[in-house]
Amino acid sequence: MRPLQFAPPPALAVRTHCPYCAYQCGMIVGDGSSDAPAGVQGDPHFPVNNGQLCIKGWTSTTLLRHPERVTTPLVRHRGELRGASWDAALDDVADAVRRTKAEHGADAVGFFGSGALTNETAYLLGKFARVAVGTANIDYNGRYCMSSAAAGGNRAFGIDRGLPFPVEDIADAEVVLLVGSNPADTLPPISQWFERQKRNGGRLAVIDPRKTATAKLADLFLQATPGTDLALANGLLYLAVEEGLVNAEYVRTRTAGFDAVRRTVLTYHPAHVERLTGVGEAALRKLVRWLGTARSAMILSGRGAEQHSKGVDTVHAFINLALALGLPGKPASGWGCLTGQGNGQGGREHGQKADQLPGYRLIEVEAHRRHAAAVWGVPPESLPRKGKSAFELLDALGPAGGIRSLLVMGSNVAVASPDMTRIDSRLSSLDHLTVCDPFLNETTRHAHVVLPVYQWAEEEGTMTNLEGRVIRRRRVSRPPTGVRGDLDILRELAERLGHGDKFDFYGPSEVFDEFRRATAGGAADYAGITYERIDREDGVFWPCPAEDHPGTPRLFADRFHHADGMAKFFPVTHRAAGEEPDASYPFFFTTGRYREHYNSGAQTRLVGALTKAKPAPTLQIHPAAAGRHRIRPGQMVTLESRRGRAEFAAEVTPEIRPDTLFAPFHWGGRDAANRLIGTALDPTSRMPEFKIAAVRIVGTSA
Ligand code: SF4
Repeated sequence: MRPLQFAPPPALAVRTHCPYCAYQCGMIVGDGSSDAPAGVQGDPHFPVNNGQLCIKGWTSTTLLRHPERVTTPLVRHRGELRGASWDAALDDVADAVRRTKAEHGADAVGFFGSGALTNETAYLLGKFARVAVGTANIDYNGRYCMSSAAAGGNRAFGIDRGLPFPVEDIADAEVVLLVGSNPADTLPPISQWFERQKRNGGRLAVIDPRKTATAKLADLFLQATPGTDLALANGLLYLAVEEGLVNAEYVRTRTAGFDAVRRTVLTYHPAHVERLTGVGEAALRKLVRWLGTARSAMILSGRGAEQHSKGVDTVHAFINLALALGLPGKPASGWGCLTGQGNGQGGREHGQKADQLPGYRLIEVEAHRRHAAAVWGVPPESLPRKGKSAFELLDALGPAGGIRSLLVMGSNVAVASPDMTRIDSRLSSLDHLTVCDPFLNETTRHAHVVLPVYQWAEEEGTMTNLEGRVIRRRRVSRPPTGVRGDLDILRELAERLGHGDKFDFYGPSEVFDEFRRATAGGAADYAGITYERIDREDGVFWPCPAEDHPGTPRLFADRFHHADGMAKFFPVTHRAAGEEPDASYPFFFTTGRYREHYNSGAQTRLVGALTKAKPAPTLQIHPAAAGRHRIRPGQMVTLESRRGRAEFAAEVTPEIRPDTLFAPFHWGGRDAANRLIGTALDPTSRMPEFKIAAVRIVGTSA
């Protein structure tokens, strides 16, 4: 066995990137005086954030020497997690995989990855599941984040890259429409581009059920009823047709399928749209005129529009509008989505998704299977077929569903999933659960084995930000004694399972070399990207098929990625949410994020400065609704949906619609918003309907 490769000790200060969201702010970390980096500053030379960070970035090194860090493997013994050697813990995991396969078949072993993993780890985890174990059942938490936008983008453009242009183009857009996105809170440094856009005379419009921090900056705010964005988009397209704003030349030469869409939107008369959305004709007309007459205009989508059982169709409704107005491919124009997770983009390109192989190839396409199999040195027929999507995979845990053993890497699924109570019970019914994580969390409560892993600043690798820019995550500090990297764990497990020769990687650069070959010729082609190029060029945009290719910061200038080069319209119609309010459960409940916390809160709830700023979630409720229920600010309110209860302190505010309640989803326990959320899924993306549940107020206390 070769010795492990370690990156050189940290230099005086290292350029790397924030561990959290997809904006992947450049940061400079470390003062060189010890293994623990003492200082963080925004990287003034990284052209995405230009030196700015949000509070999560500023405090991100707090976790590196956190007292609650797990530094030894833990194995459950008589109901308790106890310290164990790495060999004992890895043997336990490998035994569980072997036993499960022998007794129940390979598909009874599941894997759950993460949009926080590097490209190298995401790639290797997908390969491990398919080659070392042979299971179809691997998916990841990015399914909960980006899948509707990804499916919509693929259907319309033949490619899924969150933003088809660099963020700097925002500054040059005459009009920007944000749909269900609150970047002022979720990725604050992006605000600099909106501020420049304003200074350049641009206008910002926002569609959201809440008057968010972003909506307060808008020149036009449309406070739509939850779950009606699709109807609103169709209504805008109706008006675009009526007002003669459709770009007929663009539609004829660059798209296909407009006639069917035009016929579909004929029923979206403004009066009908107002009844559905609560947005009046004057605002609709103003917005479509802005979009249709601007020199340049962008429509940017967020989770508020996408996390629905009609998320893909909602995305496509806005893409239809953008195509009709001739925006995609035009300078500083088009449709895009603001990706959420740190490596949400790269994480969905390289095979940790149930239906995908590296390079955005598809596991059900024979030519794609042959390419991956050739790189991996296995027969194509040995690769499993498409497996279950994230929620369906978790819902199938245990004897009833058939997945008996699960390995989770980098995701706190017990808090991040809809209908948490149900997922809790599924996790507890597993024969064996392995969790790879630096900290204990709500998911490790069910674990049989916890493997302590490196954190962001202790590992090397690549990430792909929301622009499709591939960047380097660099090692800043030495990991504590006793923890290991994800890649080391996969290699050690593969050796134990008899597939060591296929996972003989002793550092991320070795994985990256194979990964480049695996992506070559795919939609997300990284073949021409090297660590050295990323260093030199401050990131390289995919697709980049050769080392002398410049990369592709802007897509669609000449053609789209379907074989005929045309973008596709797709007729979509409004439909009800999986669960709408009724007499028994009269409120819409919707969720979102705080500036101070990230996703399930597994990391940020451990950072003192962040928990001090936001110690607990509050429930936004309109004064009219609060008055009807005699709720005072700060009073504890218990909400109930058909799945469970959660309790929040009331924040009485006119910024939310009177029919809607809002709470963030960063907490577990009794204030867990996801306990209320249902299990309706989008039929295409399998995205759970995180953004709508029907709830009622069942109690208040002082
Ligand atoms: Fe930047 Fe996002 Fe990190 Fe905040 S959380 S510093 S916006 S990458």
